[in-house]
Amino acid sequence: MAITQTAISYYGLNYVEHAAADFLEMKEHGCTTVILAVTEFDFDFWRPNIPRIVAKAHEIGLRVLLDPWGVGKYFGGEQVSKFLQDNTENRQVSALTGEKLPFACFNTNSFRDYFQRICLTLAREAGADGFFWDEPHYAFPKSYASITGGVADEWTCRCPVCMKKFQDYYGYEMPRVMNDDVKQFRWREALFILEDTSRKIKEIDPELEITCCVHATMNSYYVTEYRGYDNWDMVAACPYFDVFSTTIIAWELPEGFFEQITKRTVEVSKRYGKKSERWLMGYYKQPKDFKQIDDVVDMYEKAGVDRLASWTYRGGYGTVLAAPDALKLWDRIGENYKRVLGK
Ligand SMILES: [Zn+2]
Repeated sequence: MAITQTAISYYGLNYVEHAAADFLEMKEHGCTTVILAVTEFDFDFWRPNIPRIVAKAHEIGLRVLLDPWGVGKYFGGEQVSKFLQDNTENRQVSALTGEKLPFACFNTNSFRDYFQRICLTLAREAGADGFFWDEPHYAFPKSYASITGGVADEWTCRCPVCMKKFQDYYGYEMPRVMNDDVKQFRWREALFILEDTSRKIKEIDPELEITCCVHATMNSYYVTEYRGYDNWDMVAACPYFDVFSTTIIAWELPEGFFEQITKRTVEVSKRYGKKSERWLMGYYKQPKDFKQIDDVVDMYEKAGVDRLASWTYRGGYGTVLAAPDALKLWDRIGENYKRVLGK
């Protein structure tokens, strides 16, 4: 199977005519799809222009996926969260210290309703082709590595809502130290918000496609993450997700890591009849030798990946997360996009 989709993310939604110029540049770089990062501020402030920007992308010949970028700091992304600004409650709580953290607890009805309202409104109004769930996660732990001789003890969420749900289901108080019940609880609850929202999006329009992109972790005996979506089988089995995607790997990581993640991504996707997607790091850092980009793209293709995506437009040019040679990086990714689509 050939690679059929080459996506690039894009943020800073505002004027249609400015977006149009950027969309043309994406087309010139071999992109078939734009992943529009819609922030809480964009939704709150620029809402009238969102459907117009989507329509313009379509006119230029790009598919459009909407990314609720960093909403509640539950999804990945650098921007601020209006939910956290407007709510002092419904936050994730540290298991060890009991402190409220600057991450929305997505197991609370308050945040679930807030998130769902944004998505369902966009599903009705924006005219996009689908949604992109971008690195959803619990705040902690980022990694949980017994090979180092100890585990990352901190985790979330032990807020009153999570504690009550846990107590009701398991019949004892949610412990401070993570155990198997807590792991199961966290996986189940984490999936609920995305499953429920995806199902309702498809009720509005069954053609709206859902991509779920989770952190690219080894999930091995020694090293795994407990960010809520690290049980890939559980995520990929969700009947409302169409594409299983695993996120960016830093260029300096070993080739074997890229290969392992890719192999597992394709295997899990196939097992559940989903399309697979792998990412290229197109911001912040770049490979020592740009040829690595060509090699990784070749490896993705050989492994049977269906879709490629890169973060972000112009290599992050002009932002604090720009790659050193941002525009050259963007050009090289574009060359690769054109190359794989031409096959
Ligand atoms: Zn909670």
